[in-house]
Amino acid sequence: MHQRLSSFSSIAFDNSYARLPERFFARLAPEPVARPELVALNHALAESLGLDAAYLSSDVGVAALAGNAVPPGAEPVAMAYAGHQFGGWVPRLGDGRAILLGEVVDRAGRRMDLHLKGSGRTPYSRNGDGRAWLGPVLREYVVSEAMAALGVPTTRALAAVATNEPVFREDILPGAVLTRVARAHVRVGTFEYFAGRGDADGVRILADYVIDRLYPQARDVANPYLSLLTEVVAAQADLIAKWMGVGFIHGVMNTDNMSVAGETIDYGPCAFMDSYHPDTVFSSIDHFGRYAYDAQPRMALWNLTRLASVLLPLLDAEPARAEALAHTVLEAFPDLYSTAWSAIFRAKLGLARERDGDIALIQELLAAMAADGADFTETFRALCDAIEDGGGPSGPAYAPWLARWRARLSIENTPADAVRARMRAANPAFIPRNHRIEEMIRAAVNGDFEPFERLSAVLARPFDDQPEHADLRVAPKPHEVVRATFCGT
Ligand code: AMP
Ligand code: MG
Repeated sequence: MHQRLSSFSSIAFDNSYARLPERFFARLAPEPVARPELVALNHALAESLGLDAAYLSSDVGVAALAGNAVPPGAEPVAMAYAGHQFGGWVPRLGDGRAILLGEVVDRAGRRMDLHLKGSGRTPYSRNGDGRAWLGPVLREYVVSEAMAALGVPTTRALAAVATNEPVFREDILPGAVLTRVARAHVRVGTFEYFAGRGDADGVRILADYVIDRLYPQARDVANPYLSLLTEVVAAQADLIAKWMGVGFIHGVMNTDNMSVAGETIDYGPCAFMDSYHPDTVFSSIDHFGRYAYDAQPRMALWNLTRLASVLLPLLDAEPARAEALAHTVLEAFPDLYSTAWSAIFRAKLGLARERDGDIALIQELLAAMAADGADFTETFRALCDAIEDGGGPSGPAYAPWLARWRARLSIENTPADAVRARMRAANPAFIPRNHRIEEMIRAAVNGDFEPFERLSAVLARPFDDQPEHADLRVAPKPHEVVRATFCGT
């Protein structure tokens, strides 16, 4: 056992992953940067983690967040993982530009990883430089925090530090390090890593670790590993339904970017849809629309099937029985997903009860929106004010639909203002719009962090109108539309 000498200000690390066998990771310290400068600190998150914001903003704290010093109690490791990238098997990926500093137990008693991204080269870096530049760091900060405020499970952003070192991409860009917080950085690809090496013990040790840490309810059942698979499948069904409900497109749903904790992880070329179309793709590298908006539930199941296949030997000693068990769990995904999706979209329409025809009503609205390229977020938000009178989306396509929807609402037998209030809690006014993110990044690169601060503050309350920030709410004008996002992280 290591000692916990946590004074008031330092970080009370309590590490568990670093206790796993040495083949699970590489132990090394982050690589120092030239001149670290704190550009963002998430005070609310620090508070919930029991961390002292004054310490984190001090020279010593910033040195820790930049990777310039290993704080007492930290045991930095670069985690090993593999993955299927766009369907192709890659046996060894791992943290190539990130490092798990250690874990803390938050105020709610949950064990959380503190992870630095952009912290230098590791044995998994291949040809990469181990670095990140300011743009993607601030993008992940804003989008992941917006997701949290929207009620979508996600990794969080604790801090962003500018390194004052150049990062060489197509251009010379300012470097940065993000401190990411997660329930665990165990990916489907972490399981695949051990399975791919024929390391059945490794798979079992990892499964036991994940059960203990994330799904303790699976520990004392007849078949804990089957229960683990069931929990992960359920968490993903719920997560993807939530993405769909806010128009989020992850963009790189490779198995190395799917967390077994059911959190959204790895904000690379992700984007929120402005204009609704089910085929929407932003990522410049997703040529065939593998990870398009509408494909996300199918691709989640594809990834879960990879997880199931590496867990097979743990499910039953008899291969045929193991396969049958896995099959049953995977088969449940479409129903779990549809149920979660229906509940979310029903809530978006203000329908608290469940009635036949609701799904058709939702589908008809989405079809009308797709036909005229309606803004996803604005259309649903406008419906909140269209319960009784003339408001809401206009145009001939919507008039008969609005009449049917109002008739359906009347069956709810709920006062209009109550329906409006619950719809406003299900339909955000603000999402991190791509053109605003890019504008924010351009400003930050020029040393102006005001747009970052404003975007962060507004997106912390996405369901409030905040009329003074209406410009951040509206859909992009044609010349502002962002059509592609880049992995260039
Ligand atoms: P991602 O596209 O962020 O999911 O990363 C896929 C893999 O590439 C992971 O193993 C990363 O650690 C690695 N990687 C991405 N960017 C870099 C970089 N700049 N230096 C080293 N490794 C990287
Ligand atoms: Mg990744």
